[in-house]
Formats: sequence, structure tokens, C-alpha cells
Amino acid sequence: MISRTMLMAAAALSGPVSSQVPDDPLTKPLAVEREAEWLAPVNPVRVFGKTYLVGFGGLNIAMIDTGAGLILVDAGLPQAEPRILANVAELGFRPRDIKYILSTEPHFDHAGGLAALVRDTGATVIASPRAAQALRTGRLASDDPQLAYDSRFPPLQNVRVIANAEKLRLGDTTVIARATPGHTAGSMSWAWRSCEAAKCRSIVFGSSLNPVAAKGYRYSSPAGQTVVASFRRAYATMNTLPCDILITAHVEQSGSNGRFATTPDPCRTYVRASQRALAARLKTERRK
Ligand SMILES: [Zn+2]
Repeated sequence: MISRTMLMAAAALSGPVSSQVPDDPLTKPLAVEREAEWLAPVNPVRVFGKTYLVGFGGLNIAMIDTGAGLILVDAGLPQAEPRILANVAELGFRPRDIKYILSTEPHFDHAGGLAALVRDTGATVIASPRAAQALRTGRLASDDPQLAYDSRFPPLQNVRVIANAEKLRLGDTTVIARATPGHTAGSMSWAWRSCEAAKCRSIVFGSSLNPVAAKGYRYSSPAGQTVVASFRRAYATMNTLPCDILITAHVEQSGSNGRFATTPDPCRTYVRASQRALAARLKTERRK
């Protein structure tokens, strides 16, 4: 398992993101229109203290060094996996020290690489109860606004479930799970503190809050109104989180020009952007 991980990391370091171990079903590239943008190569960077980014120009993958193992947040597309591991190694860490991978939502662009990461590192995936159901099938949940797209990703056999407000402790770090449903019913954001000497910052990895739906879906339908109510719960939660630094699953959604936001109240800014998008969407539906 370790030699395979190293082989894949070496392959990723020496070539473009599409250079995969041949015929590997778990990293087999998903054909995605925005792949070049989402997986644009960028260097791994430190966010603050022992929190890093090991992802891409368009999709964020966070890494926390807890002193007793590593925690990742999200996994990108299946074909992203070798380069995530290469980025972890480039920062001087061992992929096999990844203990947990926290999932923000069961969609192919954030969960597609989970199965390969689990196989190659032995890590445990942690998700909300509703997200865990979808992650085990590799299919969209029946109430997902994007259901008609029928997008798929490699399923997981084992997912550890975590409840809203439950704490995950590893080493010197406590990560709190915060349910932020709407974009998917199981969407979960993750909050923790990272310190540099005496200075500490509250960091939030925010799940996608944008109202993206398949063609023909209506948020104003009875089922859609349940989703709208979920969004409102997510906004209320996100607005209460201590939030010095916001990392969003899709890089450009943080409201910053960089890879994460450090502007005042970035989580509230994120909520307002989602509220505006949802209001605009509902207004459009009323006209049709
Ligand atoms: Zn999504």
C-alpha cells in the first residue's frame, strides 16, 4: 500500500494531473468540462499555524497537522488523488499519516477522490448521516436538486458518521462538525482553531452554499421549499461560527481573490452571497 502511494505520488510529481496509474478504477478521470480550471496546479501552502492547502486552483483540499496524524478536508475529483498525495509529501508529511478525511458534500467534485485516498492511506472518511448514505452509493441522493444530472463517483464501503456540533479530536486539534444543508441535504462545514505561537485563528472550511440545480428543478416546488428551509438553517449556523479565515470547497466562492478569505467576517459575507443567489433564483422561478 505504501509503495503504491509513493509510486502514485511520484507519477503525479513528474507529470500532468491526467498521468494516472493505468487502469486504476478509483482514479480513472471523470470527464469534466471545467477540469483544467478546477484542477489547475498550484503549490501547497500554509494557511495559518498547522493548517495547509494541498489542493488546486479551483478546488480546495485542506490539511491539518494535529501532531498525532493528519486530517484532510475534501478529496476533489478521482483523478486529483495522486497530486493531493504529492502535495502532502511536498510539504514534508507522509500520506500514510492521514487519519481522517472530512467530507463537505457527496458530489463528484469534492468526494470523487475519497475512495482512492482511503485505499492508499488507510484514512477514515467522516461525513454527516445524509452525506454518508450518498457516499456509500456513489450516486446522488433522491432529494438532491442536481439529481437529474445523475453524476457518479467511486463509492465508499466505510464512512464514519458525525452529528451536527459533534467534536472530532486528534492530537492538538478539535474539529467541530457544522451541518450546513441546502446545496445537498448532507452538506457539512468544519471548524477548528490553528495557532502560531500565542496567536490563534478560527478557521472554517465551508461547504458549498450555492443553489445549483439540474434543469427543470424548482426551489419553489414543495420539495424545493424543504431545501430552501435547509439553506436558512445553514445560514443561521454559518453566521454564528467564529470565523477569522474561510476556506470554501470551490476556491472562488470564499469572496477573496486568493485561495481563502481573511477579510472581516468572511463566513457572513459567504452567507450573504448565497442568500442573494437563492433570492435571485426564486425570483426567476416566479417569472416562469
Ligand atoms: Zn456540489
